[in-house]
Amino acid sequence: MGTAAGEGADRATDRGADARVVVLVAGGPDGPRPRVHPAGEPLLLADDLAAVRGDGCFETLLMVGGRPAKPERHLTRLGRSAAALGLTGPTAGEWGAGIALAAREWGPDSEAMVRLVLSRGPERGGPETAYITVAPVGPHAVRARAEGIAVTVLGRGFPADFAASAPWMLLGAKTLSYAANMAALRHAAADGYDDVVYLSSEGEVLEGPRSTILIARSGELVSPPAEVGILEGTTLGALAEVAEREGVPVRRERLLLSDLLTADAVWLLSSVTLAARVRRIDDVTLDGAYPGVDVAGMVDRAVGRA
Ligand code: PLP
Repeated sequence: MGTAAGEGADRATDRGADARVVVLVAGGPDGPRPRVHPAGEPLLLADDLAAVRGDGCFETLLMVGGRPAKPERHLTRLGRSAAALGLTGPTAGEWGAGIALAAREWGPDSEAMVRLVLSRGPERGGPETAYITVAPVGPHAVRARAEGIAVTVLGRGFPADFAASAPWMLLGAKTLSYAANMAALRHAAADGYDDVVYLSSEGEVLEGPRSTILIARSGELVSPPAEVGILEGTTLGALAEVAEREGVPVRRERLLLSDLLTADAVWLLSSVTLAARVRRIDDVTLDGAYPGVDVAGMVDRAVGRA
């Protein structure tokens, strides 16, 4: 993965770290017609429920060469998250027009992180707020792709079967309430780790705070099923399509920490970081040998980077 990751790093960083594009998709005076919003100016009312309650949902996708990667997968999941929250949101066509405008504004030259945000809107009443931001891919992602990561294992505190009986937990929806996930990442960083693997209360492997877990085992790729109360990853879905074409089996199976420690390789998958190979889990260094499957290459092909 050396050369590809190195090239990716260059492409990812050539726009300034402060560069931003903002597009309002709904909630403005023009209704659901996308328009560019000055990136340095405030957009939300102070009582917007996204800001005061985290009450909304979002998607983060990669833009490569001015083209959004697998937008239909993200829009499908955003629709599912919105439905779980009882939100309507713009149509896929309206989001698509907003993404196209944001992509034109950003240009084709450097990779970018595109965030689609849907909020319940102002607490005082009014329409849902929907907007898009475009920003450079951060240095964490670039480093994780190229060098891999060390992760720590943290408990999420509820059983793997909780999701089915507790729809109010919104497990499996990508809500804006990410404060606990960000706290987990800070907790990990304070102990010198790059990322986190969450376990259920009975010790099942779940997901990362912003990623899907994938292992290679005897030529197969294995990832926990959505039924354990995790977000269904779009990167995993896109990778599975490529893997199937290339004859590599991808299975969904409940995993324990011991499965990670004995795997041929472990990755965290996500839309912007893509495939980050796990080099260490707590104080156990993983075997760094080539696992027989080029996951980073397959993910690059899945998102149109290769
Ligand atoms: N799980 C969680 C909790 C996430 O936040 C994310 C990414 O945002 C993922 C998994 C991976 O999803 P995707 O591959 O669609 O980025």
